Amino acid sequence: MEEETIFGKILKGEIPCEEIYSDELCLAFKDIEPQAPVHILIIPRKKIRSLKDAKIEDQEILGHLLLVASKIAAIEKIEEWRTIINTGETAGQTVFHLHLHVIGGRSLKWPPG
Ligand code: 5GP
Repeated sequence: MEEETIFGKILKGEIPCEEIYSDELCLAFKDIEPQAPVHILIIPRKKIRSLKDAKIEDQEILGHLLLVASKIAAIEKIEEWRTIINTGETAGQTVFHLHLHVIGGRSLKWPPG
């Protein structure tokens, strides 16, 4: 069986997190190493390893995560933000439980490094 990720442990309550939002499909919490004044991670409760492992039946979850990003922005009182999903190691994915970064609260450069 595949080893549990740190986010799996957060979902089970085995590791604490600074929760921002929670519902039946997802959990959102502060990134432990924030890259901006606002840096929130949104994770599905369902274990999906990465975006490329998502299936057609995950369509509702994927859409939900994007809509929750707007809720997070409202909770954090930011009007503009960046959403990032790193997919695979060379793209910067370090935790293999799908997650969406919501980053804001400062001006952000493009392109990313
Ligand atoms: P990735 O690099 O996979 O796209 O993003 C993983 C993110 O998870 C990183 O920004 C990292 O700082 C964050 N992270 C890793 N471990 C923990 C943890 O135990 N708690 C929280 N809140 N964030 C974590």
